[in-house]
Amino acid sequence: MSKALETQLEINLSALAHNYHFLKSKLHAATKMMAVVKAFGYGSDAVEVSKELEKLGVAYFAVAYANEGVELRNAGIKSPILVLHPLPTNFNVIIERCLEPSIYSLKMLEGFLSFAKQKNQTDYPVHLKINTGLNRLGFSENEISEALKIITSQSYIKVRSIFSHLAASEDPNEKEFTERQLKLFSNISETIISALPYKPFRHTLNTSGIINYPEAQYDLVRSGIGLYGFGNDKTITAQLQPVATLKTVISQIHELQPGDTLGYNRAFKVVSKTRTATLPIGHADGISRAYGNGVGWVTINNKKAPIQGNVCMDMIMVDVTNIDCKEGDEVIVFGTVSTAENLSNEINSIPYELITAISQRIKRVVHRI
Ligand SMILES: *Cc1c(COP(=O)(O)O)cnc(C)c1O
Repeated sequence: MSKALETQLEINLSALAHNYHFLKSKLHAATKMMAVVKAFGYGSDAVEVSKELEKLGVAYFAVAYANEGVELRNAGIKSPILVLHPLPTNFNVIIERCLEPSIYSLKMLEGFLSFAKQKNQTDYPVHLKINTGLNRLGFSENEISEALKIITSQSYIKVRSIFSHLAASEDPNEKEFTERQLKLFSNISETIISALPYKPFRHTLNTSGIINYPEAQYDLVRSGIGLYGFGNDKTITAQLQPVATLKTVISQIHELQPGDTLGYNRAFKVVSKTRTATLPIGHADGISRAYGNGVGWVTINNKKAPIQGNVCMDMIMVDVTNIDCKEGDEVIVFGTVSTAENLSNEINSIPYELITAISQRIKRVVHRI
């Protein structure tokens, strides 16, 4: 990789392939993988990541919203795409672009059914989302018989899969709760399958679920964060490779004297001679203001440079008093050594939030190393 000359997010497709193979190695031979590429592929580049994963052999893609699925179709992705959170206003584009909706309530079921009928569809694939305890989206147990009555008396839609989502698959202290979720999913999905004249496939594990509940793999697993290099567990993360590296450059260096202040609100007061570097990345790019005033840091020439003063919209200033560096030098915000997980933990956040927040104005550079 040549040196960064501006702020850029590097997407390493070799790391993605490594993570895919690692997660695949945890699956039974018959279990398929659904790659979760919502939120621009967890902030990376949904199209590039999906093209690579399609080549690697993932069976299915999942996005959160219909427009994310449209973007993949526009880029030529042919694999089936599950839309986890469709809204009635998206039904038209969903059918037009062959996207497969998650149906999570009786109202959605009836709404999508009448839409599919109006569009002269037969056996349009839908996925039944079961609420087993996350209490976010999904049918509750007592709605299943009503749903089945509706489904079995028509031919416009067909249940391709039944799925649920775990609330705390990464947390060993919640094992009992998770096992209860899995049991409920098993019971409800059995009920549905025995009422249908065909057999939908089943899935309920996310990345941490793959690691912690291998007995619940069913036909397919849905992995997001693991593909991008984070495992919600030290030993797993150590075996994965972060896909995204966020780099920037030093725009300007300032030599500050005692009594000077740095940045908005004069938040940093210089006590002893301080050398600062101004970087072209700010809170509009996804670097939260919470990282300011010494909380977060970047890496310059292998040394940690704390973010000082308040994070501005388009810039941050970092303390480089003890770092040999000059204007134009490359800066690493996060990557393989100082990771998005390390940085996000400084503000009690998680890598999911930091990597998905990286703004679309930052150039994506795709490579393999
Ligand atoms: C985001 C999401 C996933 C992926 O979870 P990871 O922890 O990133 O693997 C799986 N299933 C559903 C329903 C999701 O919303």
